[in-house]
Amino acid sequence: METQNIYDFLIVGAGCAGASAAMYAARLNLKSAMVALLPGGLITTTHLVENWPGIKNISGPDLATSLLDHAFSYNVPLINETVLEIQKAVASPVEGKQSGFIVKTKSNTYYAKTVLVATGSEWKKMGAPGENELANKGVSYCALCDGGFYKGKTVCVVGSGDSAAKEAILMAEFCPKVYMFVRGDKVKAEAPNMKRLLENPKIEIRYQTEIAEILGNGKVEKVKLKSGEELDMQAVFVAVGHAPLSALAAAVGVELNEKKEIKINRQSETNIPGIFGAGDVCDTKFKQAITGAAEAVTASFFAYEYLSKTEVVFE
Ligand SMILES: Cc1cc2nc3c(=O)[nH]c(=O)nc-3n(C[C@H](O)[C@H](O)[C@H](O)COP(=O)(O)OP(=O)(O)OC[C@H]3O[C@@H](n4cnc5c(N)ncnc54)[C@H](O)[C@@H]3O)c2cc1C
Repeated sequence: METQNIYDFLIVGAGCAGASAAMYAARLNLKSAMVALLPGGLITTTHLVENWPGIKNISGPDLATSLLDHAFSYNVPLINETVLEIQKAVASPVEGKQSGFIVKTKSNTYYAKTVLVATGSEWKKMGAPGENELANKGVSYCALCDGGFYKGKTVCVVGSGDSAAKEAILMAEFCPKVYMFVRGDKVKAEAPNMKRLLENPKIEIRYQTEIAEILGNGKVEKVKLKSGEELDMQAVFVAVGHAPLSALAAAVGVELNEKKEIKINRQSETNIPGIFGAGDVCDTKFKQAITGAAEAVTASFFAYEYLSKTEVVFE
């Protein structure tokens, strides 16, 4: 194997976590690359970020672009591919040495002394009849991506978190009527977003309300609530949370918690020496752009420390 083809630190993902890790790793002189399907990640789906320290407000796509640009300014490459498998190169390395990793995509194989898994999450589905059938025909998981198609229409947002609140606030910029359906009796939004939500006359929050079925012929036309009430509706924005994309890590033996999140310690290490985790895919309860970035730069630093005292072998 050509040693010049071996990365010190291969980052799977190029969201807030992956891009931050790439910038830091480059400053620590680690030979790194980001391998990612969607550069920028989840933050690109929100119109307004007001809690990135040092920037009072910025759009999600602009924040992602600036993080990626920062990494690119240190010449960290972005490999636009999906990682299909991470394997240990040596099952049982001799005592005192650690195995490197083989990272496979559809058309390439990469070798890495350490790997950061920063694969984020995928949208959870609501599970109502009609949701799958009418996906992209009025059912959406991203108001910033699809909201513009429903200008002047009646729409609803399903969910109770800060993300759901922001989806409703954004849709109220386009639509005369936005329902927010909350399963419980509380919206858990940050205070400024809660205020915007409550003060917006176009938004009607319905507590203890769940959609029983989404109805429509080729496009969303109505929703039927569990109470039996039917409401005319042209779009349903589902914001009921995210599930971690941790299967890749689990397959190489990384330990997950009961929510299938990667367990990391305060050094962003997993149970496998040389594999680190950061961002929404991990078991930290508070998941934000800045917390993912912090875990990621921590991973870069401890990967650097690990490499300075570990002999990594590939055969
Ligand atoms: C509507 C909404 C609003 C939000 N607003 C805010 C906010 O105002 N402030 C805030 O701090 N946070 C906000 N968040 C949360 C924030 O977006 C996330 O915490 C953050 O983006 C997570 O970053 P990440 O890098 O961990 O994961 P992601 O951004 O999800 O990035 C994951 C990366 O991994 C890649 N990937 C996944 N699997 C593979 C694979 N097999 N092979 C290759 N690449 C792969 C993806 O393509 C992507 O590049 C919001 C979230 C939503 C949904």
